[in-house]
Amino acid sequence: MNREPVSRELFDEVMVPNYAPGNIIPVRGEGSRVWDQEGREFIDLQGGIAVTSLGHAHPGLVGALQEQAEKVWHLSNVMTNEPALRLAKTLCDHTFAERVFFANSGAEANEAAFKLARRYSWEHYGPEKHEIISFKNAFHGRTLFTVSVGGQHKYLEGFEPAPGGIHHAEFNDLDSVKALISKEKTCAVVVEPIQGESGVLPADPEFLKGLRQLCDENNALLVFDEVQTGVGRTGYLYAYEMYGVTPDILSSAKGLGGGFPVAAMLTTAKVAASLGVGTHGSTYGGNALACAVAQKVIDTVSQPEILKGVNARSDKLRKGMMNIGERYGVFSEVRGAGLLLGCVLTEQWQGKAKDFLNAGLEEGVMVLMAGANVIRLAPSLIIPEVDIEEALERFEAAVKKLTA
Ligand SMILES: *Cc1c(COP(=O)(O)O)cnc(C)c1O
Repeated sequence: MNREPVSRELFDEVMVPNYAPGNIIPVRGEGSRVWDQEGREFIDLQGGIAVTSLGHAHPGLVGALQEQAEKVWHLSNVMTNEPALRLAKTLCDHTFAERVFFANSGAEANEAAFKLARRYSWEHYGPEKHEIISFKNAFHGRTLFTVSVGGQHKYLEGFEPAPGGIHHAEFNDLDSVKALISKEKTCAVVVEPIQGESGVLPADPEFLKGLRQLCDENNALLVFDEVQTGVGRTGYLYAYEMYGVTPDILSSAKGLGGGFPVAAMLTTAKVAASLGVGTHGSTYGGNALACAVAQKVIDTVSQPEILKGVNARSDKLRKGMMNIGERYGVFSEVRGAGLLLGCVLTEQWQGKAKDFLNAGLEEGVMVLMAGANVIRLAPSLIIPEVDIEEALERFEAAVKKLTA
C-alpha cells in the first residue's frame, strides 16, 4: 500500500491538468469545519459546491453508509435493490414525480432528461420535434450533450462537432423564448431555477410561469435542472416548490448524496413511459450504497425544521455579507435563495473573485466563486449558527486586508 506523504506538487505530476486546485489539502472534516494536512482549521462555506448538504462526517450519514456497506454494495440493474426502491418511493412521495431514474452525477441525470425529452417527442409527435431550448450562461454538466445544451460556448471549444438541434435563449427573457419555440420542432425547454455556476442568478417567478405556459401551448416538456438548487438548498426540498411551477422532468444530484455520488431524474408516469426497456441505462445508477446514503439525506433534509433552519441561516449569512459589502464597498448585491447565495462584486472589484477566495483561505474560511464577479456561498444546510458568525468574522478580516 502506498502511504508516502503526498503534496499539492504531486497533482501536476500525476493528474490531467483540467483543474487548478488550491494549495491546501483538507484531510478531515466535522460538520462545517475542515482541517488540512498541517492541522489548520477552516470553516466550510463551499460545501463541496453545494454537495455536502449535511456537512462532513454527519453521524446519520456515516451510520447509513456503514449499515448498508455490511449488507450489499451493488447488484447491477439486472436485479433491483431495496435502497433504490425505497429512495424512489420517498422521492415520489415528496415531489411531483411518479417515476425515478437513478444516475451518478448531475451531467448523467441531465443526459437522461434530455434523451427522455427527445424520445418522448419522437414517440408522440415524430422525429421533427427534437429541438431543445436552453439559456445563455446555463450550466448542465460536461458530457458532450450536456455541455452543448449548456450556454457557455467556451466549454465546447475544441470538442465540436456538437450535437445539433439546440438553441439558446436569454435567461429571464420570455420574448427570446417565444422567438425560438414552436409546436412543430421544440421538444423541451431546459432551465435552472437559479443559474448557479454562472453567478447565482435567480429566475424571475413570472419567467418560469411563462415558460410553463409556453411549453404547454407548444407540447414541449419543461425540464428543471435542480442539480444545484435541489435537496433543501433553497429552503424548499426542490426550488420548483418555491416558484410554484411544476416541471415535467427534474434532475437532482449534488446535495442528494451529501458527498456520496448519486443523482436522480424525476418525471411523471406518462413521460417516463418513453424510456422503455433497453432505451437507456447506467451500471452504477441505483447503486445500493449510494441510495442508502441518499435516503438518509432526504429523510433528514425533508423535515420541516431543517428547511426552516435553512431560511434562518440564510438570513443571518445574507445580512452578514451585506454588512461586509457595505462597510468595505465590495458587494453591490447579495442574491440567491436559502443557502445558495451570490455576493456580486462592485465595479471596482469585478474580475477579482479569486482574490477574495484566496484571502478567505488565509483567514480560515472557504468560499466559492461563480464566475469572476460573484462570491458564492453554499454551506451545509445545518451549519451551526456560531460557525456562520465566526465565518463572517474571518471573511471580514479577509476583506479588510484585501481592501486595505
Ligand atoms: C454541477 C451542476 C451540473 C453537473 O453536475 P456534475 O455532477 O458535475 O455532472 C449540472 N447542472 C447544474 C445546474 C449544476 O450546478
